[in-house]
Amino acid sequence: MNIIVVGCGRFGAALAYRLFKSGHNVSIIDRNPDAFDNLPPDFVGLIVEGDALSQDVLIRAGIEKAESLALATNSDTTNVVVAHAAREAFGVPNVVVRNYDPRYRSLYDEFKLQTVSSVLWGVQCMEEAILYPGAEVSFSFGEGEVKIYELAIPAHWEGRKIKDMLIKGECVPVALIRDGGALIPDQETVLEKGDILQVSATAKGRKYLLAQLSLGGKGGLDT
Ligand code: AMP
Repeated sequence: MNIIVVGCGRFGAALAYRLFKSGHNVSIIDRNPDAFDNLPPDFVGLIVEGDALSQDVLIRAGIEKAESLALATNSDTTNVVVAHAAREAFGVPNVVVRNYDPRYRSLYDEFKLQTVSSVLWGVQCMEEAILYPGAEVSFSFGEGEVKIYELAIPAHWEGRKIKDMLIKGECVPVALIRDGGALIPDQETVLEKGDILQVSATAKGRKYLLAQLSLGGKGGLDT
């Protein structure tokens, strides 16, 4: 896929490198030439120095043939303006933007842009890790109403069926990592030592899960 990443700071450089490593044709733009030092030395792609607000710079990066564009600068206005222009003027099919300052999140929603709020996401993950150790968040949906938690199952879950550990309607098993592989479990799957279980849960489900994790399977909902 032809992909352009705009902004070669810590975020954009890491993204561009991952995309390059997975076999894509990557162009990266930054107005600060020193920013390209963030790219690992084995990165191979088109490096374009210039301001992404300039049409000429976007064209040099190959926007006319781009299938995806990732806006990863530290300026929310730049990200929104360039994303909008790429979609409207150049017809780039897949445009993804980084929301840098959470105070500007609504701006992205107004333009109906596919947005990753890295600060908000990081804050939510750290908050969860502090308040609920043992249940790592691996994905968050909407405004965080539903999240996927990754649980290293405790000894008292071993030999138990998934349906006995999860609350119906609030928790759904998503994946089970076992012996270095992954499978999709069902409610009847029996848990084994060393299993890592991914569960999609609401806030109510999470509370129940955490009680189950810490209370030897005797947890309950006390809300
Ligand atoms: P970071 O916050 O470390 O992810 O870095 C953000 C990067 O975005 C920096 O390297 C900036 O130079 C770059 N940047 C900010 N605005 C623009 C712009 N209008 N055009 C190109 N690069 C930009």
